[in-house]
Amino acid sequence: MIWHNLHTAILQWYSQSARDLPWRHTRDPYAILVSEVMLQQTQVDRVLPKYLAFLAQYPDFRTLAAAPTSEVIRTWQGLGYNRRAVRLQRVAQAVVQRYDGALPDSMPALLELEGIGRYTAAAVACFAFGRAEPVLDTNVRRVLGRIALGPDGPATATPAALWALAKEALPDSDPYSWNQALMDLGARICMERNPMCLVCPARSGCASAGRAVPALREQRGSYKTKREAPFAGSTRFYRGRIIERLRLLGPAETLPLSAIGASIKPDYAASDEPWLQGLIQGLEHDGLLATREDGGIALP
Ligand code: SF4
Repeated sequence: MIWHNLHTAILQWYSQSARDLPWRHTRDPYAILVSEVMLQQTQVDRVLPKYLAFLAQYPDFRTLAAAPTSEVIRTWQGLGYNRRAVRLQRVAQAVVQRYDGALPDSMPALLELEGIGRYTAAAVACFAFGRAEPVLDTNVRRVLGRIALGPDGPATATPAALWALAKEALPDSDPYSWNQALMDLGARICMERNPMCLVCPARSGCASAGRAVPALREQRGSYKTKREAPFAGSTRFYRGRIIERLRLLGPAETLPLSAIGASIKPDYAASDEPWLQGLIQGLEHDGLLATREDGGIALP
């Protein structure tokens, strides 16, 4: 089986060239969870300073659970996808209420916590508790799919098939290093557009070695559509701008709808109000802002 031979090569490469990342120096389930939630949609170099600052401000589940949500959203500044801040705090509150502040260590119990999906549960189970769980993020999906299924594997295999593949590939010992190694391999060697097969520790057993780039060129149209959709002007863009504006308010300050509109869209007009109302309602639904009795809007 290909994996047996690849375990040694990939783990040896990892032991010599692993990235020195702060979340690799801890097994604290809380710190691991914070890092995983931050890393889901944000690049490592942007997460690094925010991770340490967040842990300094909220060192455990109890501190985070008890903090004002508006403060947590402010602390999240710079990471984007602000819903994650609210989601993380809700997980912390559930852990305090249901587990006395100690994260459970089994997959079923982790998955029962609202806001923790399969990837995050597996990452915490493996990286904090040493469980033999496959951890399948975007990078790992690409690496395993290319190795076992060929250049088109990552794009054509179903999520269930890729999870099964990740489970099959897991070595008998040290699942922590294996999962971390695959993440590094995807981030530094087996990159989406520029896989460096010549220096890859998996090349001897990889079904895509030296062939992944032509396949990508053929698929470029679909990659372009997926990756280069304009961000400016999108709903996510304006949601982010609203939260940025509200972060600037003092503790008791609020803003009327029209003032928010004018601050996030230079040509804001009365006809934009229904659109803005929709954005505000969506953010309120996600727990990211609150509308006061007088109609003023602020962080929750
Ligand atoms: S040999 Fe190439 S395609 Fe295969 S895992 Fe390594 S970098 Fe990726």
